[in-house]
Amino acid sequence: MTSLRVTSSIPDGLLEASARDLHQILDGPTLIELEGKPGAPLFVSALMHGNEDSGLVAIQKVLRAAASRALPRPLMILIGNVSAARDGVRRLEGQPDYNRVWPGCVDHKSSAEARVMAQVHSRVIERNAFAAIDIHNNTGRNPHYGVICVEDERVMTLASLFASRAVLFRGLPGTQTASFRDLIPALTVECGQSGVEANAEAAARLVQTVLSLQNLEARRDAEPITLFHTLAQVRVRSDVALKRASNRPWLALNDDLDLHNFERLHRDFNFGLTNDPMPFEVIDENGDDVAGAFFQSDDGRLTLSRSVVPAMLTTQERVIRQDCLCYLMEELHSDT
Ligand SMILES: [Zn+2]
Repeated sequence: MTSLRVTSSIPDGLLEASARDLHQILDGPTLIELEGKPGAPLFVSALMHGNEDSGLVAIQKVLRAAASRALPRPLMILIGNVSAARDGVRRLEGQPDYNRVWPGCVDHKSSAEARVMAQVHSRVIERNAFAAIDIHNNTGRNPHYGVICVEDERVMTLASLFASRAVLFRGLPGTQTASFRDLIPALTVECGQSGVEANAEAAARLVQTVLSLQNLEARRDAEPITLFHTLAQVRVRSDVALKRASNRPWLALNDDLDLHNFERLHRDFNFGLTNDPMPFEVIDENGDDVAGAFFQSDDGRLTLSRSVVPAMLTTQERVIRQDCLCYLMEELHSDT
């Protein structure tokens, strides 16, 4: 049974452990509440997805750098899916996705995992946290970007401290950042692929910067940020094989698709070959399938029927099946 552990000190071995070895130190999801100089705590979470290790490595860097000195403000750290991290997967079969069970979720509402996240959520709000940062990786090749749920000055400032791109995302109930909307400034950071030192370093720099900030007012020295908003999520129909097959619908995706994340793709851009009229389900924010508004299949080629910007495009079958193929976006406030 999954339940939350709470501790007020850094568990022995935490600073050295790899994500795969964490289970030797932690029994499950663990909230670590560390003291610091007086002020509202910063909340940081890592390993909501077990195969995304940049958050853990970033936290280790921040804590090592602080060494025995007092943190600039208190720090609340949530280490999430320890058992999935052991296997190097996003979540175990039979487990709900840890980033879909935060308050406001629709599915898995009464699961043990939803109770854990509700407990963490109320603790973070009760302590009136300064901000919440949830650290993730992408499976495909993506530039660094933030995901925000509200276009608010403090949230935009937070996002601009990490990257020059952010996605404004209102969809998917049960994500952590959505659960903090209108309560405290909240940001998801997508740090590129796992296992890359520079990606963890970028997340560590963000955490260190925010720990030391007095407030989140707009900064004059901040780079302007390009804001995208999500139009739809693209899934591959579950009955469609992801390679050529003889007796069933199939789709063979181009294998360098993930090189095009955050690139404007034009009408007729080719996603791959298929023997099916529409192997995709393209779900918009109302939950409707709008595949026909974005894709067309002609002569076995599956192409875009309009211009869009994709994010989180991946070619890994497990991720496509457990989550999705990609999101389709457009720039906000653009005149084009
Ligand atoms: Zn993730």
